[in-house]
Amino acid sequence: MDRLLSVVVSVYNEEKALEDFYKETTGILKDIDWAYELIFVNDGSSDQSLAILERLSASDRAVKVVSFSRNFGHEAAMIAGLDYSSGDGIICMDADLQHPPTLLPEMYKVVSEEGYDCCGGLRCGREGDSVLRGLFSKAFYKISKGLTHMDMSDGHGDFRMMSRPMVDAILDMKEYNRYMKGLFSFVGFDTKWIEYESVERACGETKWSLKSLFAYAFEGILAFSTAPLKLAGLIGCLLFLAGVIFISINLIQSLWIPGAVSSFDIIITVVLMLGSLQMLFLYILGAYLSKDYLENKKRPLYIVRERSQ
Ligand code: UDP
Ligand code: MG
Repeated sequence: MDRLLSVVVSVYNEEKALEDFYKETTGILKDIDWAYELIFVNDGSSDQSLAILERLSASDRAVKVVSFSRNFGHEAAMIAGLDYSSGDGIICMDADLQHPPTLLPEMYKVVSEEGYDCCGGLRCGREGDSVLRGLFSKAFYKISKGLTHMDMSDGHGDFRMMSRPMVDAILDMKEYNRYMKGLFSFVGFDTKWIEYESVERACGETKWSLKSLFAYAFEGILAFSTAPLKLAGLIGCLLFLAGVIFISINLIQSLWIPGAVSSFDIIITVVLMLGSLQMLFLYILGAYLSKDYLENKKRPLYIVRERSQ
């Protein structure tokens, strides 16, 4: 039976890019041995994107269109595309040609011939990004690496080809907040990264404002780390330490100079100690909450790649 390659593309107000994207991508997909399907997920576009996609789908049976009732965001669009895909290999890419279709044959070769489950595009440079966005991304990946222990690096994006077992593992995770970069990393599987030079958008503009990027980054940390819940523990310990130092200084002073310790010093010490106790109890509360939070996600305890009959 013919093997099938599914290409999932999320689309939000990309009327200016779609025709070029279709031409360039199909031009390259035609030379790949597997049959292919192009799944466009229209994420509530308010421009002519849907009309263009319907026209493409009417003239090309390989083009499938899934259209949302409103804008649900890029992550939801990717999940929907994966849900509707039936290929043995699945590629996720953007519609704005910032994910160069010229990379597809190499991704295909890595997954279909070299035995990898995933071949990801590693973006080099930050062409088309503002300086602020570049700095923000670098800081975010540093912080999230420390907090989540996941292999999420600047340059590792959604542009990738995955095997069916890897996609099934991702789809098995039914949590509501599906931070895709984290899930790609969580499910594991052998991944090869191939570099590509970042390019500016051919047309249109990015859908990400600094505010939405910040919210997205925060979501990512919350979805994969319970460290913020434990922050109270650290602050509590520091306050407690400050209290102990304060008490020690007061004791030593009152031993040498009678009456040197004022009631103000005593009040400060008591406040410090009580504050630290409160923080430590908040930490314990956070620890229970984080256990419950992870239980609620119902993530699998392990993921099997293959097994003998
Ligand atoms: N996109 C989407 N829903 C959104 C925002 C973006 O489906 O709410 C799509 C968009 O059309 C593009 C891809 O996701 O195909 C990446 O978006 P964008 O180019 O704005 O992100 P950037 O490249 O700036 O990170
Ligand atoms: Mg883009």
